[in-house]
Amino acid sequence: MNALPIDPPARLLMGPGPISAYPSVLTAMSAQLVGQYDPFMTSTMTETQALYRQVWATENDATFLVDSTSRGGIEAAMISLIRPGDRVLVPVFGRFGHLLAEIAERAMAEVHTIEVPWGQVFTPAAIEEAIVRVKPHLLGLVQGDTSTTMLQPLEDIGAICAKHGVLFYSDATASLGGNPFEADAWGLDAATAGLQKCLGGPSGSAPITLSERAVEIIRSRKKIEAGIREAGDEDAPDFVRSNYFDLGMILDYWGPRRLNHHTEATSMLYGARECARVLLGEGREAVRVRHELNGAAMLAGVRGLGLVVFGDVAHKMSNVVAVEIPDGVAGDAARQAMLDDFGIEIGTSFGPLHGRVWRIGTMGYNARKDAVLTTLAALEQVLRRFGATVPVGGGVDAALDVYTGHAEA
Ligand SMILES: *Cc1c(COP(=O)(O)O)cnc(C)c1O
Repeated sequence: MNALPIDPPARLLMGPGPISAYPSVLTAMSAQLVGQYDPFMTSTMTETQALYRQVWATENDATFLVDSTSRGGIEAAMISLIRPGDRVLVPVFGRFGHLLAEIAERAMAEVHTIEVPWGQVFTPAAIEEAIVRVKPHLLGLVQGDTSTTMLQPLEDIGAICAKHGVLFYSDATASLGGNPFEADAWGLDAATAGLQKCLGGPSGSAPITLSERAVEIIRSRKKIEAGIREAGDEDAPDFVRSNYFDLGMILDYWGPRRLNHHTEATSMLYGARECARVLLGEGREAVRVRHELNGAAMLAGVRGLGLVVFGDVAHKMSNVVAVEIPDGVAGDAARQAMLDDFGIEIGTSFGPLHGRVWRIGTMGYNARKDAVLTTLAALEQVLRRFGATVPVGGGVDAALDVYTGHAEA
């Protein structure tokens, strides 16, 4: 077989993630490799930790990367913080809440869930009521669930967890960078993310931050290495049941001891470092405001096309919107036409929303005026060709009004 060099088609990724990466992230990832303990490597790791402390708004020493996609970050946090039999509470408001519950189950937790219908979020009172009832060791709460586009408010949850002695973990994969996140001020014990949403990189690296309390729990787990088990552990083995995702070992690798664990994924490290550098260079608040502005323009635009927006819009993430597929329009075929005719990808949906809504994202590099307007212009044409009645220019006009209004403000 005579394979040609890789040459992907030109795409504008306007779905719920992954999104088109910042060009400088791609450049950073093509830089030459260095050895695992090269001074450049270790100093780049240390520098990346410092950058992500700012991204998370934390002073946590234990801020680093798990080499995997976002779900590896979730798995590392859960499997390292949960002992078999621990009670875990997961409030579920979409697909990723179910994922957290499943991973907790695999960590052999006693899992309790509460649910709200898709398109809604929990009140702090509902979460506190469940905490009082369940008395969990850990609360696992998604911040932004891309399956429903909802953003769960977290700012009051840390104090509730602290009051009841519960560890507070959040999956902020979809939301970090495009929405507020304050790891320390909100009392998070653990939080994980990925690069492929608002951080504007590829999937494959999971930034994580851990409070001192979380690190203490991880450090108190019994060790098992190369077949040698720590004593006193015979009846109820306590060691973390994963080598790759054992945060105690990963911490020793990133920490001053630099104990060998896996070989750090060098190109992903370069990419993750660049994602944080781009975000902090533009400014954390400026990036959040850019997501808010472009998300508002997309929201106004889809409404300007006569589309109905799904869910409690007051609690929507800034960076993704779900729109109901108009009656009579073939959803998958129309999405395919966006891709084939315009090179634009928008998202389909899962579970109860499957076949009902498209999800359109404005994240990272693509949280941009030209990307928003191009998507709306293409969507108007596709909707018309698929039989929907759409106001001529209604999407682009409504979005432009948002941008103009912003310019005057
Ligand atoms: C997109 C997303 C993920 C993605 O996980 P991967 O392993 O990177 O595919 C995880 N959690 C949430 C809330 C997400 O929105």
